[in-house]
Amino acid sequence: MKLLVINAGSSSVKFQVFEMINDLVLVSGLIEKIGEETSEIKFELENSGKNNSVRVVEPIKNHKEALQKVAGILLDKENQIIEKKEEIKAVGHRVVHGGEKFKETAIINDEVKEMINELSSLAPLHNPPNLQGIVVATEVFPQAKQVAVFDTAFHQTMPAKAYRYAIPNKFYEEFGVRAYGMHGTSHRYVTKETAKFLKSDKLKLITIHLGNGCSMAAVRDGKCVDTTMGLTPLAGLVMGTRGGDIDPGVLIHLGKKYNLSVSEIDKILNKESGLKGLTGLNDMRDVLELKEKGDVKAKLALDVYTYRIKKYIGSYAAILGGLDAIVFTAGVGENSAYVREASCEGLEFLGISIDPSKNDKRAKGIRVISEDENRVKVLVIPTNEELEIARQTFSIVQ
Ligand code: AMP
Repeated sequence: MKLLVINAGSSSVKFQVFEMINDLVLVSGLIEKIGEETSEIKFELENSGKNNSVRVVEPIKNHKEALQKVAGILLDKENQIIEKKEEIKAVGHRVVHGGEKFKETAIINDEVKEMINELSSLAPLHNPPNLQGIVVATEVFPQAKQVAVFDTAFHQTMPAKAYRYAIPNKFYEEFGVRAYGMHGTSHRYVTKETAKFLKSDKLKLITIHLGNGCSMAAVRDGKCVDTTMGLTPLAGLVMGTRGGDIDPGVLIHLGKKYNLSVSEIDKILNKESGLKGLTGLNDMRDVLELKEKGDVKAKLALDVYTYRIKKYIGSYAAILGGLDAIVFTAGVGENSAYVREASCEGLEFLGISIDPSKNDKRAKGIRVISEDENRVKVLVIPTNEELEIARQTFSIVQ
């Protein structure tokens, strides 16, 4: 069965087509700068073992035109993906916020669309373009089942004591103010890969997603019991441009001191904090390079970044009542031996100890970086959110 996976942003659409028999990616691509004169279409074909990259710049007015371009790419005879649209049996959509309504992947109908729309108040930057992606995909691929895979769904198994904030009840009751967590598709993917790799569903796990956005999850027997992000993606770990946990009093203090508006505070927290706030740079590679040159601010930023991860490892080991494995994933988690080492340093008393020679080795696929005799397995697992969306979509339409 062939499936299309779509991740629609405000001015971009990412897409991949999978052949589900063997999880094969037939094409993956990105359309950016939608609505501008210089929209960019990039895609890679993975036919007959050779990578074939294409890049075109042309104006694309809106998301509908973008999806029509995607259909054109899929139907192009030279690309050998599909001969007719009917071959795409389902379209799996990434939807950022599913609130408390969506605990699982859902087949999209009018009611689901309406609920995704209502949940826009919790994810104003993401749910509206996700919904737009759904609407236009339904027009362009009318024969395919449309499926929504929610970033928050994996975290819906958290108990109330983990997701409730100790603020007046009415904010939860009237506006759903609670922790929801993000990156659920990635945490779910690496959780399942770990279970397969360690041949057990009964695991106490900490999954650590370190990309531009960063989050951790405590997972018991495949189910999330806590996560670092909250109502919004601002909570928890230090990220590229977000600082994560902060004393809320700081915001009151700064607001008064500098007479800041809510949108100014929003900008500081979302765009100017994290690695960027501490070093001026948001890309981990640049910060690591600066640290290598002896830059004191970069060293401090890395200390704050990895100290926070370590603090959550300890806290999650406590709530899980033990630990079988820790998983590092996403851009930084998969690639930075330094960050992994520094985050786990000094945790031997919890049975966590990284083997530097395994940690430093670059390799594809799943790998173990902990010392052989250790109780806790430390793993590096490349995440694959698109494949997880495809698998969820496949299993619900079957
Ligand atoms: P993602 O959001 O998963 O694409 O991850 C993006 C982050 O991964 C950026 O901060 C990159 O700097 C970081 N990253 C990518 N490659 C490396 C690398 N080789 N070493 C350290 N960080 C990396």
